[in-house]
Amino acid sequence: MEESQSMIKIIEIKAKEIFTKTKLEADYVINPYVGCGHNCLYCYAKFIARWRPIEYGKWGTWVEAKINGPELAKDRKVKGTVFMSSICDAYQPIEKELKFTRKILENLDKNAKLSILTKSDLVLRDIDILKQFKNIEVGLTINSFIGKTKNIFEPGAPENQQRISALQRLKEQGIKTYAFVSPIIPELIASPAGALAKEGLQDIINKTRNFVDYYWFEFLNLRGAGKEFAQVLQKEFPQSYKIVSNEILYKDFIDKTKEEISSFNIKVREIVKH
Ligand code: SF4
Repeated sequence: MEESQSMIKIIEIKAKEIFTKTKLEADYVINPYVGCGHNCLYCYAKFIARWRPIEYGKWGTWVEAKINGPELAKDRKVKGTVFMSSICDAYQPIEKELKFTRKILENLDKNAKLSILTKSDLVLRDIDILKQFKNIEVGLTINSFIGKTKNIFEPGAPENQQRISALQRLKEQGIKTYAFVSPIIPELIASPAGALAKEGLQDIINKTRNFVDYYWFEFLNLRGAGKEFAQVLQKEFPQSYKIVSNEILYKDFIDKTKEEISSFNIKVREIVKH
């Protein structure tokens, strides 16, 4: 086990396979890593930690790196769609030095229909390879969390403005892009002052509409986000907690937000409510 400058434990592993069959709107998912230094408090993938040794520590502090991932992607014909990634962010901080995602992309069949979703502008480093794919799209998660809210919810991820700039650059390079607006939390998808969701979503759309082909929205899944997240939300943002923890109030919020989304005159792929 090694520790990088960012104090993330890196555990090198050899994977049996790099293409995992999935039901996540794709045929396969590729996870160059398991675990994620972006360390989002609401991360829905943290259930994976249950099947890892307790010595690894808390989700967000360790990452398994598939050292043979690039080799496993080599000389494989891929029929269908490939999604990157589901139990990590392929462009999390350690990718900068390890470059496993880049090496996998180098070896991946360029005929594969590839969809990448990330919170990091590090994806821009690989534009040269991304452009080699015949069918590719890149999504950036945008949610407008800044300051205290971002420090609590996404301490290791780049700022939203960097993500928006990444969308702009990808678009300029002719790559299909989308904004994954998630997690939508009442009162918090908003300005630093904590404006209402309505205003916050409008702001996100205004800042991104020239750089994306479509939008994908996802409401917070309180249960999936876990107990610790729920406790923090209740303590730090009681009004948000009050809404998401009450079936009637949350449904009302979701219905109103859906209405608002339909008024934006944008292309929407899906609005996910768990
Ligand atoms: S970027 Fe995604 S995978 Fe990484 S911690 Fe955040 S939610 Fe989890």
